[in-house]
Amino acid sequence: MAATVLDGVKIASEIRLQVAAEVKSLASSGMRPGLAVILAGNNPASDIYVRGKVKSSEEVGIYSEKHTPPQSVTTAELLALVEDLNRRDEIDGILVQLPLPQQVDSKKVLIAVDPAKDVDGFHPMNVGFLSTQRPGLVPCTPGGVMEMLRRSNIPVAGQDAVVVGRSDIVGKPMAMLLINANATVTVCHSKTRDLPGVCGRADILVAAIGRAGMITRDFVKPGATVIDVGMNKITERAELERFFRGNERRELAFAKNGSTLIGDVHPEVAEIAGALTPVPGGVGPLTIAMLMANTVRAAKLRRGAAVPV
Ligand code: NAP
Repeated sequence: MAATVLDGVKIASEIRLQVAAEVKSLASSGMRPGLAVILAGNNPASDIYVRGKVKSSEEVGIYSEKHTPPQSVTTAELLALVEDLNRRDEIDGILVQLPLPQQVDSKKVLIAVDPAKDVDGFHPMNVGFLSTQRPGLVPCTPGGVMEMLRRSNIPVAGQDAVVVGRSDIVGKPMAMLLINANATVTVCHSKTRDLPGVCGRADILVAAIGRAGMITRDFVKPGATVIDVGMNKITERAELERFFRGNERRELAFAKNGSTLIGDVHPEVAEIAGALTPVPGGVGPLTIAMLMANTVRAAKLRRGAAVPV
């Protein structure tokens, strides 16, 4: 039987509606949440991501502003900008779009962001809050995965969860969130022995690898929930044929754009998984929705309102 499709577009729009209602209520008591995005230099992909984030903020009623220092910006100049945003009371969230220009010390800039305004949840203080289950800000992509599981009524407590990938922005916080939700968690990476065997024991399998279609049906226990975080662009016709032979919609997209997106999970997994996130339209839309939710959460935490852990 084909897997249930976990519709990220629908879940993201539910989250955005709730966020919009919260923003309205905060604004009516004079606390409209504000988000500042820093987009340094010329990176076309970052430009598209930031445009999406600013547009989403406006749609849910969050005040937003975009700062666009030039490609030649220095670490000191960015630190001064971050300091200024840290000080401004009407700014609740600061997002530094990565990558920063090569000459900039990214780590220095990221750690300068006030942890209370760190809506990406990357600051070591927020990492610590997550691992010790204190209220803080959680990275948007793994946070979105947890929302997807919760809103799709997929049980997590007591389940065997396997996360493939151990990056600071996806794999590690994903594993921590699953541990906090009482799953039994295994984290895999490029040195893991017998990856298919380990993945094959998962009730919940999260792929955050960055390798097109790597998770084939041999990695998946029948009926498992498979969350595909990967976003890989296919530009070769041979790859299109390998993954999407006979898929008319993909053929059309490829003919029009010269590329199509695929996750880390092979499309054949839909035949064996119990539930599966599509790419595109799965985890991706949730990431931006969670950024909005995090901005509201930051506003509430900073201003002393009660929030769930
Ligand atoms: P990353 O920093 O490159 O980390 C990739 C992880 O995968 C590493 O831990 C790496 O292991 C592991 N890995 C690589 N090849 C492997 C293999 N053959 N077998 C087992 N593990 C392997 O990537 P990331 O930033 O976490 O992103 C992962 C994917 O998610 C990318 O496709 C990215 O575009 C996507 N992403 C999507 C969203 C979204 O909103 N949907 C957000 C963020 C990222 P080692 O640690 O041993 O090197």
